[in-house]
Amino acid sequence: MKNKIIVCMVLLFLVGISLGSSILPQDSRFEAKNFEGKRNEILSEMDLTLKEATESGKYKCCIDPPCKMCFLGNWIWDDGTCDCDTLIIEGDFDRVCPECKSGIKEGRCLSTKTLNKTCPVINGGN
Ligand SMILES: [Zn+2]
Ligand SMILES: [Zn+2]
Repeated sequence: MKNKIIVCMVLLFLVGISLGSSILPQDSRFEAKNFEGKRNEILSEMDLTLKEATESGKYKCCIDPPCKMCFLGNWIWDDGTCDCDTLIIEGDFDRVCPECKSGIKEGRCLSTKTLNKTCPVINGGN
């Protein structure tokens, strides 16, 4: 009986090692990539993360696809979230991030679909 337990533990240990080593090469593959490869990987991870956060309601961006500026912390929110949608609803359009503003200009606004609100109209001017 005791032997069986030891065999099980050894097996688990081996499984652990093979799992661990299957994770490690992925990291080193990333390291081996050139700038373009790394950039592509980061961007696709970022898209996935933003999609998840948008679906879970953490990232309340007003455009589709969501902005990256707020995610990178380059706007008024420090924790990588976006709350542009709320700002628009509250009529606080001045604080909406520039990336979202240009997205709205391009007609990528989501607000009308999600919250039955009207997207702000930006007078092109350019
Ligand atoms: Zn937004
Ligand atoms: Zn934004």
